[in-house]
Amino acid sequence: MTAGRAPKRDQTGPTEKCGVVGISLEDRAAALPTYYGLYALQHRGQESAGIVTHDGFQQHDHLGMGLVGEVFSEDDIAALNGESAIGHVRYPTAGGVDAANAQPVTLSFEAGSLALGHNGNLVNTDALRAALSEQGHAFSSDADSAVIAHDLARNLLDEDLVGAVESTMERLHGAYALTIMHDDTVAGIRDPEGNRPLVIGELEDGLVLASESAAIDTLGGEIVRDVRPGELVVLAEDGSDFDAYQLQEPDRRASCFFEYVYFARPDSVIDGELVYETRRELGRQLWAEAGVETDVVMPVPDSGRAFASGYQAAAEDVEFAEGLMKNRYVGRTFIMPTQEAREQAVRLKLNPIRSTVEGKSVTLVDDSIVRGTTAHELVELLREAGAESVHVRIGAPPITAPCYMGIDMAARDELIAAEQTVDETRAAIGADSLAYLSQEAVAEAIGTEQADLCMGCVTGDYPYDIEGEATDRPVTAPRIDGDSGT
Ligand code: 5GP
Ligand code: MG
Repeated sequence: MTAGRAPKRDQTGPTEKCGVVGISLEDRAAALPTYYGLYALQHRGQESAGIVTHDGFQQHDHLGMGLVGEVFSEDDIAALNGESAIGHVRYPTAGGVDAANAQPVTLSFEAGSLALGHNGNLVNTDALRAALSEQGHAFSSDADSAVIAHDLARNLLDEDLVGAVESTMERLHGAYALTIMHDDTVAGIRDPEGNRPLVIGELEDGLVLASESAAIDTLGGEIVRDVRPGELVVLAEDGSDFDAYQLQEPDRRASCFFEYVYFARPDSVIDGELVYETRRELGRQLWAEAGVETDVVMPVPDSGRAFASGYQAAAEDVEFAEGLMKNRYVGRTFIMPTQEAREQAVRLKLNPIRSTVEGKSVTLVDDSIVRGTTAHELVELLREAGAESVHVRIGAPPITAPCYMGIDMAARDELIAAEQTVDETRAAIGADSLAYLSQEAVAEAIGTEQADLCMGCVTGDYPYDIEGEATDRPVTAPRIDGDSGT
């Protein structure tokens, strides 16, 4: 078995919040729609992008560093032959800005060719890798996505795709939404806890799998349904139909609540819920729990918009105003190792609109506080612009713990709420008042039981046993700032 292009793990571990696409068409090259699908998922990963196609005889791939629009030229797309394709966009992780991290992972072996794109993070990669190495698998990489691909390839030597995936899934622990392509067969898999999203869509001449439904909309398709937790969906080679196999019975549901709060596009539908409406509802709940009567309420663009709109709609007498102008050309791959650089970046990105702020009491609404840099800088900016008082309202509970499930949160000691009370955080960001939304309200707004959500970054209670958790395991790379724009 020879490893093709496979990601390498940086020393602090993989933290991959990514976007995946898989497309199978009747009689049309799949590369271009895959490219557009990735474009629609750009917010899920800006470090690298890749497309792998299969033309019935052989695999073709093109991967590179940067945004989708930068990685592929027209010629690159034209060279990607075949009516089957999978694609991937990868989220930036500091220290991991390396072409070897680009996905999809590709392998060619005795049973054909395999390509795999992964969104999520396994928690038992080390054990899996050790088991495979013992059986003689040489790894050019130790990233979890490559381990999944190798495991699957080994199983494909003596099983069909469904059997091979079933065997592999039994060994995987953690969060994964995968699109895979075995020769020209495209399939999607969602982890048994449903931690990461994956949705099936129908085009006029084929089928598509994508992390978010916004990709299906972009292609002019219709949502068929979400891939169910623990399910394998195999697309017919002509894209006319799909077969679904419930390979794992979930013993609990653990959808990532942060998809609803921050990651997903507001125009995406996850598990039947339009993310925008969920965020507006979170905003309404925020008013109900912690509303404060100020002259104006304003969002942190763009992440706080839907929250502020819901909050203001629930308030009787609070005017809505855009108080911060966003420089739309600032955004991605700001690798900012120092606090100073992060603070500068906030000011580069956002500037107050003086007339809506001056002499006023202001409520500033955002989705989340991670390190506290954004809130601290914005409170200061609003005061400089003449705000009389600044009250901060956050549409999620305090983030107090790292994410092991594929989201690139900051390491624990960087999280402003990890060791501090709400009032200490309020003082640290310089606000007149600060309130977060409760866990109960989050579940209610999403329309689910709290027990069915993964809120590990809030509670420290994870859906999987995390080796070394609550001790000092180095978990995440420092977060690359640069809001994804949602
Ligand atoms: P902080 O400045 O507190 O570290 O981060 C809070 C801001 O970052 C919020 O405006 C929120 O929208 C955004 N944010 C939350 N999670 C993430 C993330 O994982 N990556 C990036 N780039 N921004 C995030
Ligand atoms: Mg933001």
